[in-house]
Amino acid sequence: MSYHWRAPSTGSTNRAEEHLNTACTSIYLISSMKKELKIVPIKNGTVIDHIAAGQALNVLKILGIHATTDAALSVVMNVRSKQMGRKDIVKVEDRELKPEEVDKIALIAPRATINIIRDSEVVAKHQVFLPTIIEGIIRCANPNCISNAEREPVISRFSTAGENPLRFRCYYCERMIEDISGYL
Ligand SMILES: [Zn+2]
Repeated sequence: MSYHWRAPSTGSTNRAEEHLNTACTSIYLISSMKKELKIVPIKNGTVIDHIAAGQALNVLKILGIHATTDAALSVVMNVRSKQMGRKDIVKVEDRELKPEEVDKIALIAPRATINIIRDSEVVAKHQVFLPTIIEGIIRCANPNCISNAEREPVISRFSTAGENPLRFRCYYCERMIEDISGYL
């Protein structure tokens, strides 16, 4: 009895690999040899790295991604980071962030890095920037603040009062906000 094995044509191999890559994009592969968490790279989209641990879900909220989303995304929380101790990572496929989304992410994760991926290559890497004055992004927690008055054409204005923990002070009523995720 003879057995003939024929190598698949190059075309079908590529298709098979492509299919595999697509299937793997949202899966974390755990390398048991190195005991570290590896994330399979995405083809097109955005990787938001160095998010302060615990803030990944707030990043999703800023991006308008809810539980019922059909966006292909990966969320990694509380992984070890040399720089930060612990960090979160969010990957969103087929999406590049708008400047206003980046500005909001800076306010909850001031050390975040934003990597734009096109055709599996990192084409841009941005470090977010925590401004000292923030206008028109944070809603004041004080319902009586002039910036919350419907008839007043006053744009909210906050100053960064501290980074660890993150704190912001309203310019108008001096109300301090520590957890701003509910006020973006
Ligand atoms: Zn205020």
